[in-house]
Amino acid sequence: MCMPGFELFDDDERRQINDVMETGILFRYGFDAARNNQWKAREFEVTLANKLGVKYAHLCASGTAALSTALFACGIGLGDEVIVPPFTFIATIEAIILAGATPVFAEIDETLCLCPDSLVTTITSRTKAILVVHMCGAMARIDNLAAFCQSNGLILLEDACQAIGGTFNGQALGSFGQAGCFSFDFVKTITCGEGGAVITNCHDTYVAADSFTDHGHDHIGNDRGAENHLSIGTNLRTNELNAAIGVAQLKKLDRILEIQKNNKAIIESAIEPVKGIEFRKIPDKEGDSSTFLSIFMPDREKASEAICELNKSGIDGCFYWFDNNWHYIKQWDHIKSLKSHVELPLKSLNNLPNYSKLILPKSDFIIGKTISIQIKLGWSTKEVEARARDIALTLKKIA
Ligand SMILES: *Cc1c(COP(=O)(O)O)cnc(C)c1O
Repeated sequence: MCMPGFELFDDDERRQINDVMETGILFRYGFDAARNNQWKAREFEVTLANKLGVKYAHLCASGTAALSTALFACGIGLGDEVIVPPFTFIATIEAIILAGATPVFAEIDETLCLCPDSLVTTITSRTKAILVVHMCGAMARIDNLAAFCQSNGLILLEDACQAIGGTFNGQALGSFGQAGCFSFDFVKTITCGEGGAVITNCHDTYVAADSFTDHGHDHIGNDRGAENHLSIGTNLRTNELNAAIGVAQLKKLDRILEIQKNNKAIIESAIEPVKGIEFRKIPDKEGDSSTFLSIFMPDREKASEAICELNKSGIDGCFYWFDNNWHYIKQWDHIKSLKSHVELPLKSLNNLPNYSKLILPKSDFIIGKTISIQIKLGWSTKEVEARARDIALTLKKIA
C-alpha cells in the first residue's frame, strides 16, 4: 500500500540533507554552536503546524511513535477504554494496548471510518477517549464524532496518518481533537523515510509529548546541560536527516494533492457509469486528499471476484482489505488473543472485552464489498486514462 511522496524525490531533498551533512550535527537537540543555525526538525515542526493551522507540532520517530506519544500526553493508560474502528493499520491498536489502555471496537460506516451511531453501544463508564482514524485519504464524520465526545466528556484523538492534507469544512484533519497523529513512513503521502508527528492546540499536551519522546527532558534553555525531567519518558525522537527530507517533502504537499485529485477524478468518472458500483461516502468531497478511490461492489462475492479479475488483468495498486493482514480486524488473531512475550498490563483487568467473540456485522458487510484503488503521482494523463478505461471494463464484467 503506497501513497507516494517518494515518487517526487529530487534535488530539494538532496539539498536539505546536504545542509545537515555540512554541519555534521544529526541530533535534533543541542550542539548549538556547531550547527550553524540548522534546525531541520524545528523547521519542519513550525511549517507543519502553520500548514495545518494548529499551534504545535512535535515530530516523532514514526506514526506509531506519534500514537503512543499522543496517548501518553493525553493521560490515557491502564484501565482507560479507547473506542476505535476495526478498519485501520494495526499500529493504532498496538499503541493503545502498549499504553495499557483497552481498545474497544465500534463499527465503521460507509465513510470507511468510525460510525457515530455505533458509539452509544460501545461507550462505558471506563471510556476515556475515541481514536478516530481517517482511512484511505479521507475523513470520518468528524463533526458528529467531535460532538459526541464533547457531550460525553471524552477525549477526541485522530489518527490522520493516511490523510495529511485532508480537510473537513476547510479545517485540517488531525486538528479536531486534543491531538492528531501523522506518519511520514516510506509509503505515506509525504515521507521522511521514517517519521511521524503529533499536532495539538493544547500547550500542556504539546509539552508532555515533547518531553515523553526524549526521556522526559523539558528542553528549556540552550544545549542539554541544565534541562530538567518533567516525567518518565523514552526515546521516540526524530533526527535531523529524516526531518530534512520532511522539510523538502512538505513543500510539495500542495502539488501532490493536486496531482492526486486530477488522477482520481479521471478514474472516478470512468467508473461512474458502471451499474452496481457505488463510491465510498466522503462527508466533504472538497477535503479528500485523494490518495485512494474506494468503491463498493454489490456484495462480498462480487468484490472478491473483481479483485481477482483486476489482478489477472495486471492492474496493480488495487486493495481488498477484507482479506488483508494489516488493515482489517478479521485477520488480527494476534491482537484478538493479546499474544505477547510479556504479560500485558491490560490483561490484569476484570472488564476486558472478549475479542475472540467480537462480531462487527456492519463493518464486515462494508469492508467485504470495498475495493480501494491507489492513486499515483507519476502517471502521465495517457497512462491514467488507459488505466481508468481498463479498470472500468474489468469491473463492468462483474458488477
Ligand atoms: C502508517 C500508519 C500508521 C503508522 O505509521 P508508521 O509511521 O508506519 O509507524 C498508523 N496508523 C495508520 C492509519 C497508518 O496508515
